[in-house]
Amino acid sequence: MHELSIADSIIKTVLHEIEVKNLPSVKRIVVRIGALSGVVPDALEFGFEALVIDTPLERSRLVIEYLPVRGKCRECGKDFEVDDFLFACPHCASGAIDVTQGEELDIAYLDVEDESHPERHSPS
Ligand SMILES: [Zn+2]
Repeated sequence: MHELSIADSIIKTVLHEIEVKNLPSVKRIVVRIGALSGVVPDALEFGFEALVIDTPLERSRLVIEYLPVRGKCRECGKDFEVDDFLFACPHCASGAIDVTQGEELDIAYLDVEDESHPERHSPS
């Protein structure tokens, strides 16, 4: 299962962050998943919950930001959301589209417990 190995790598990355930056316990792990990444959010959540048992992340919650596909037209330069994987510009019907969003698969930030560190920690 694809999502299980992704969940595993997210967990390893976060555990590494905690160690390197000496973070207090992580409340929420916010990940960005693009619609083109092929990741099923439910499956990722399921995999995460199964893998964090008996780790320091047992009480952390995985929050998934699901990003729709966006494109930019090379003809008229307009940005738009791509509906139903129909890769044509809704403004001028051109098929020359650059995908600008939708392939994401990364950790956006971590919310940590400690009140004295309210800033969000982005993985480096
Ligand atoms: Zn266009």
